[in-house]
Amino acid sequence: MNKAALYAAEHDCLWHPFTQMREWMEGEPIIIERAHGATLVDIEGREYLDGTGALWCNLHGHHLPEIDDAIRAQLDKVAHSTLLGLGSEAAARFAGELVAAAPAGLTRCFYSDSGSTAVEVALKIAFQFWQQEAGGKHRGRTRFLCLTNAYHGDTIGSVSVGGIELFHKIFGPLLFDAFHAPSPYCYRCPVGREPATCAMACFDDLASLARAHQEEIAAVIIEPLMQGAAGMICQPPGYLRRVRELCDELDLLLICDEVAVGLGRCGTLLASDQEGVVPDLLCLAKGITGGTLPLAATLTTERIFDAFLGDYTELKTFFHGHTYTGNALACAAASANLALLLRDGGTLAGVAERADHLGRNLEAIAAHPHVGEVRRRGLMVGVEVVADKATRASYPWEQRRGWQVCQAAIARSVYLRPLGDVVVLMPPLTISTTEIDRLTNTLAEALDTALG
Ligand SMILES: *Cc1c(COP(=O)(O)O)cnc(C)c1O
Repeated sequence: MNKAALYAAEHDCLWHPFTQMREWMEGEPIIIERAHGATLVDIEGREYLDGTGALWCNLHGHHLPEIDDAIRAQLDKVAHSTLLGLGSEAAARFAGELVAAAPAGLTRCFYSDSGSTAVEVALKIAFQFWQQEAGGKHRGRTRFLCLTNAYHGDTIGSVSVGGIELFHKIFGPLLFDAFHAPSPYCYRCPVGREPATCAMACFDDLASLARAHQEEIAAVIIEPLMQGAAGMICQPPGYLRRVRELCDELDLLLICDEVAVGLGRCGTLLASDQEGVVPDLLCLAKGITGGTLPLAATLTTERIFDAFLGDYTELKTFFHGHTYTGNALACAAASANLALLLRDGGTLAGVAERADHLGRNLEAIAAHPHVGEVRRRGLMVGVEVVADKATRASYPWEQRRGWQVCQAAIARSVYLRPLGDVVVLMPPLTISTTEIDRLTNTLAEALDTALG
């Protein structure tokens, strides 16, 4: 397709997600044609360092022979059949591999196609579990406890347990009501305390809510270690552990949404590993195929699975499933992806060293007069820019400063995308130290250009 025809199709036909289309139609967007390693290549042959890892899902770089070959080999067998009534070689194999790699206790794998659906599945399983568990003794447990600033996806259920005000404002009338506990956002503490002396006061609010509504709550849902889409908000060490202990005490289910933080991103296979926490329901998506094909998995325990077993006529079946559930091509990609992540000297083993290198480079970024805070877990970073470092005052949102920083980086051939005034770095986990240097040097220049 020639460039003019491509732009015509871009401007006249394609509606982009999370995009003001009037602005888009007026611009000349970068159109990606190819990619390799951590490099994206546009239709003019111009190269960009992929600073956001194809929106947080690329682990080992683009166009990787091992994953591409696994997809091709599967294509020679079957692309898709269905899991409704048929078994699948590729889907069964990956389920076994994922369960083997997951912490002990998570024994069952339910597939879907995106992070949002992985969360919907977890919510519906948790809800139905309590309808059926112990002869329905806890049937009143129908609601969810979540955090403000949480992001769990864009479908109605996943938005309902999210805590990003903008989405609730628009879609509020469609959502179900969840309990919201304050987000542990230490830089802007929701309960007005200081990390050194607060004794995790924000957790006390969560605990009080959970205790007050124990018999109404089906599950607590959380993004372990870091609330991603809200702006890479790090939880204080020990927070997740305390949430798990509280859930154990009150017999609430814990849903860990590791769609962003899981699969090596934070330096361990799962982020919750770092707190020794095993959830009752685990949501995985983004990195699961290394950024090649859509796939998601919701893992759960025998206890929960057992509550769905019974005679056909008892109607305990989990009545949920998507057409492309367990797609064979995606599962083949996921198997190859997981092997690359976990093999000796593989991608996961290399994260710590790269993350340390990135962390050292970020010290200079943190010293910038308009950088309020740099937050990092492994190779997941948020750089919050502020109008006034001393008072932590934000820029007026209409000024789109985060966006301007990213535009300045893109002009220097590094692709970045902000979350409001938080600039995100989520490169492929295999990014080289030279590329990390380029990423942070460019970010420093972009900060100067955009913020002075
Ligand atoms: C991205 C994300 C989702 C939603 O995933 P999609 O594939 O975009 O539906 C859910 N939870 C978290 C934590 C995410 O970062």
